[in-house]
This record gives sequence, structure tokens and C-alpha cells, in this order.
Amino acid sequence: MTRPAVPFLDLRAATAEVRSAVDAGYRRVLDSGRFLLGPETEAFEAEFAAYCGAAHCVTVGSGGAALELALRALHIGPGDEVVVPSHTFIATWLAVSATGAVPVPAEPGDPALAVADPGRIDAAVTPRTRAIVPVHLNGHPADIDAVTDVAERHGLAVVEDAAQAHGARYRGRRIGSGPHAAAVSFYPGKNLGALGDGGAVVTSDGELADRLRALRNYGARAKYEHAVRGTNSRLDEFQAAVLRAKLPLLDDWNARRSAVARRYLMELADVPGLGLPRVAPWARPVWHLFPVRHARRDALRVLLAERGVETQVHYPVPVHLSGAYAGAGWPAGSLPLAEGLAAELLSLPIGPHLSGGQVSAVVDAVRAATAAAPSPPPEPGRAP
Ligand SMILES: *Cc1c(COP(=O)(O)O)cnc(C)c1O
Repeated sequence: MTRPAVPFLDLRAATAEVRSAVDAGYRRVLDSGRFLLGPETEAFEAEFAAYCGAAHCVTVGSGGAALELALRALHIGPGDEVVVPSHTFIATWLAVSATGAVPVPAEPGDPALAVADPGRIDAAVTPRTRAIVPVHLNGHPADIDAVTDVAERHGLAVVEDAAQAHGARYRGRRIGSGPHAAAVSFYPGKNLGALGDGGAVVTSDGELADRLRALRNYGARAKYEHAVRGTNSRLDEFQAAVLRAKLPLLDDWNARRSAVARRYLMELADVPGLGLPRVAPWARPVWHLFPVRHARRDALRVLLAERGVETQVHYPVPVHLSGAYAGAGWPAGSLPLAEGLAAELLSLPIGPHLSGGQVSAVVDAVRAATAAAPSPPPEPGRAP
């Protein structure tokens, strides 16, 4: 297969930009003879905590593990309910399920914003609810102050899913610097990605950080002192070295993503039938994804591919309709906003290494493809 003129994401270009720093990091690790919980991990944790404006960063094996262990460190478990967004990557729900608790979905307030609505989160709270997991989806911060209000009113914990939001700002504050623990992923395609799996929890709660350090290492606070039933979820020294090489570039990479997003927002604003993402007044997003909505999404995707533009669907099956949650009490039709988004969203290429010419090619292709795949006419009797 030939490579599309505009690939969805070009990870090789990112690697090329940091190649010499990564090579040097790998050599440091090989020479140190330390491969887990060594000096690179310790240094990266300090550097990423400082970057986020948090007191602590505890690295773990993946973003999903970061969410699960943060919930477990907050003593969430069997018999508890945790409010999650209906529209998110399945890992958010699975992390809750892995603790033994039950994920309870809340729908987004606005399909163009696609982050959970505080009013709907509030309505999902029951006497069993113990926590809320807001997701900063697509790199766009959820309304943290409003979520915090709901949590305080009901006495709930909050764990932010920041897997897509490294460096994003909420009311000027960096995600991770707030009052809650935030879980991030270093999956290779994330805004800050390792060359394998990785994740972290950032928090300014020292006791929570201590519990997480034990949980990720078989529950040990000191060697062979296992006070709690922990697990093995550790970042390795090679990945820590890669992340140290990339972290200094993150702000620049995010700025380059934002420049692409600004062009899409301006140059696609008048395309009929195309729904563009909205930026909330409180948010400085980092554009992990740039999802647009279209009633004939699948046709549009094919037409774009024919024009050399690779797109992705995030996510084609809403979590509640996946096999993993069959029989969990959320049948088809029960979460219409999430179902509508799953049917209509299409993610355009975005990333720090998209050239100006490639952005122009995407804009031209979207204009041509939407003209060829027009939206269905409005149903009679409905306002257009
Ligand atoms: C990627 C992602 C995760 C999981 O991260 P992994 O490192 O792949 O385990 C969780 N939540 C969201 C929203 C994600 O995008």
C-alpha cells in the first residue's frame, strides 16, 4: 500500500526530531545497568511534575493502569459507583471496572465540545457513587471547577483522565496542577508519547503519591514489605529516557498542533453539513485529536482516502454498546448523544509534523468530499 499524501499521524517525524537525545538516553540506560525504578524514571518524574505544576508524578506501566491505580489508591472498589463520560475511549470505563466498581455514564452537554456535562454528572450520582472521572477528551479540558463543585456537594473523589491532554490549560492552570489526581498515558501516539507503553499519575497529594508508589511495585513501600496488595506496573528506564528527551519539545509540539487546529477552524468554518469542534471559554486545548461531525461520515471518510487524506474514527462503537459492557444495563438507545457521536465523528489528521501544504490539502479534500457527499436534507417538519 502506498503511504497517503497526508497520513493521520507521522510518528517517525517526531522520532527523527529527538533522535540524538533518545540515542544518548538509551546509552545512559545501558551503561547504568539499572532498568526499572532507576535514575531516569526518578528524573522524569521530577521533570514532568514540575512541567504540570504538581508536587508529585508517579510513573506506571500505562495510562489505563494510572487510572486504575489512582482509583484504588483512593480506596474505590467493589460496591462503589464511579461516574464516567458516555463518550470516551473504553480505557476510562475499564479502569473503573478493574477496581471492582461500576462505571455509570454521563452524557456530554454539547456534541461540539464532547466533554461530560456537570449537570448530567450530578444527575448520575447515587448513594453508591464514590468518584467522578472527567476526561479531557481530544486534549480539551473538561470543566473542572464545575465538576469539583458536584464532587464537593456529594463528597466524591475526582480522578481526571488526562491521557489526551498533556500540557492543556484550564483557566490558565496546567492540567495536573489542580486539586485532583490526573492520570496520563504515554502511549506512542499521545501528545507526549514513549516508544512503548507508559503512564503516570500527577498529584499534589503526598500521601496519595506514596500509596501509588507502593501499588505499582507489588505493594512494597520498602523491599519485601508488602503492606497492601499491589501489582506490577512500572515504567522502564528506556521509556523514561525517551520521555525526558521529548518533554522539552512538548510545548512547541502542542503549539504546532494548535496552529493546525486554528487553520481547520477558520478554513472549514463555512463547509455545509460539517460540525467543527468548539473551544470552551475556560480551555486552552492541546488538540490531541481534531474531530469533525458529518451525517455521512463513512462516505466522507472513503472520499477523503481517495484524495490521499488518512482519517480515523474515535470511536466507532460507543463504550456501552461494546461486547465488554453488554448486559451492563445500557442497551442501544440509552445514551443517544454518545451513539450519535460514534456515528458521526471523523478525526482529521493533526500533529506537530503536518506541513502547511498538507493542511491545505486536507482543507481542499474536505471541501471537495463534502460537496460530493452532501448531508441528507433536513427531515420535513424539522427546523433546518
Ligand atoms: C489512551 C487513553 C487511555 C489509556 O492509555 P493507555 O496508555 O493506552 O493505557 C485512557 N483514556 C483515554 C481517554 C485515552 O485516550
